[in-house]
Amino acid sequence: MVKAVHVIGGGLAGSEAAWQLAAARVPVVLHEMRPMRRTEAHQTGALAELVCSNSFRSDDWATNAVGLLHEEMRRAESLILGAADQHKLPAGGALAVDRDGFASEVTRRLEGEPLISIVREEVDALPSADWDSVIVATGPLTSSALAEAVQSLTGEAELAFFDAIAPIVHRESIDMSVCWLQSRYDKEGPGGGTADYINCPLDKAQYDAFIDALIAGEKTAFKEWEASTPYFEGCLPIEIMAERGRETLAYGPMKPVGLTNPHRPDTRPHAVVQLRQDNALGSLWNMVGFQTKLKHAEQVRIFRTIPGLAQAEFARLGGLHRNTFLNSPVLLDASLRLKSDPRLRFAGQITGVEGYVESAAIGLLAGRFAAAERLGIALSPPPPTTALGALLNHITGGHLSHGGDGASRSFQPMNINFGLFPPLPAPPKRVKGERGSKTLARKHALATRALADLDRWLVPGASIAAE
Ligand SMILES: Cc1cc2nc3c(=O)[nH]c(=O)nc-3n(C[C@H](O)[C@H](O)[C@H](O)COP(=O)(O)OP(=O)(O)OC[C@H]3O[C@@H](n4cnc5c(N)ncnc54)[C@H](O)[C@@H]3O)c2cc1C
Repeated sequence: MVKAVHVIGGGLAGSEAAWQLAAARVPVVLHEMRPMRRTEAHQTGALAELVCSNSFRSDDWATNAVGLLHEEMRRAESLILGAADQHKLPAGGALAVDRDGFASEVTRRLEGEPLISIVREEVDALPSADWDSVIVATGPLTSSALAEAVQSLTGEAELAFFDAIAPIVHRESIDMSVCWLQSRYDKEGPGGGTADYINCPLDKAQYDAFIDALIAGEKTAFKEWEASTPYFEGCLPIEIMAERGRETLAYGPMKPVGLTNPHRPDTRPHAVVQLRQDNALGSLWNMVGFQTKLKHAEQVRIFRTIPGLAQAEFARLGGLHRNTFLNSPVLLDASLRLKSDPRLRFAGQITGVEGYVESAAIGLLAGRFAAAERLGIALSPPPPTTALGALLNHITGGHLSHGGDGASRSFQPMNINFGLFPPLPAPPKRVKGERGSKTLARKHALATRALADLDRWLVPGASIAAE
């Protein structure tokens, strides 16, 4: 008899993890607190309820990273993608679903699986020792009793209750004929570098127009239950700083001091936007201090007025939300186990991924890792060239905890994007008449490589070696 794995939380990640375990013939006890206990966002007792939009975003595997993740999950026989495909609605190139049909389908399939027992209860403390393999997939709105218990294991600083997300830009889309690399006062960081930041200069007129746009830009409101957030003073959105005084940003995150623009050494900028390397690959750069509640389309429009960012491609846009998540790069090992207590594995949004699809993807991996462990099989992580592997790698190792300047980089939730993938060995050749631009050709080549590598990983025995 194989002993059951306990999965806490029947959302996107927990449902997928339970399914993958059962598919490997490992029994599961799935603990879900709804409908007895609701979160602030869920409305029903259904498993895998979608709390907001009904979209899984782009379904184009060839040129969109989330579309590629869909395709990889389909190939790994994902419950969430299977149910989504079955209940999809017309939505152009996006995968949108009938939310009730989708959640009922997931619930029906899990309830009908003989190896899965579903227990409707809140797990309000750390599981006792006889639960020797546990997947915690309790999401961004983890109940407070369990969150406090997890915090007692991880330490206060390692479990956040709000995210404060600054936009992230693909390095290759920044115009370095306008921007330049330099650390303030050329200060040498512990990594030895004196040029760890990309600087974008604004003159007075550009700065004034930028401030006007920030103040006038359309914002997303806080949800009622998010409004009284204690972090707020320590982590002000840029538009709130702009409203407090027109020069507040020029004396704060946009201060121009200690910097000389080599393109125009005689002109001192009125303000400077700084970007800092965000991932070990150096492909993603974070706009320092630019957390914001501006709507996404407004962020793209307004941030592209910053000199050097006119063609910026954003890997992630800014935001501030209630969100429970771990400092995973420090706390978790490569198979999502808590280093300090390896019987606990984490999955879903609580690991610092962002979005329905990404949460389910990490659930899929956690389920497969836990199943392999239970069966005494060593399972290697998916290659970092795949979307599943790139996402896993980012949360367990690819994020830079400290940069060359020595400053700590707070880990913040991330969507899947092509900036997380290792670069191609050589730029792809453009096929005439097919998928026009260089960027599209690159994405297509990355996606093609990903699927080939994933197929190899999925071949039984190829990624699994008997211990
Ligand atoms: C308000 C809000 C809106 C969002 N909108 C979107 C969106 O539009 N698009 C998008 O892609 N992403 C969105 N997200 C982000 C995220 O992708 C979703 O929250 C996603 O559901 C996360 O999946 P998960 O499985 O990690 O968590 P969830 O799907 O939230 O599942 C966690 C489950 O754990 C249960 N649970 C919690 N604590 C306990 C406990 N102690 N014991 C037992 N059960 C417990 C909960 O009831 C829940 O069913 C949103 C997040 C929030 C908070």
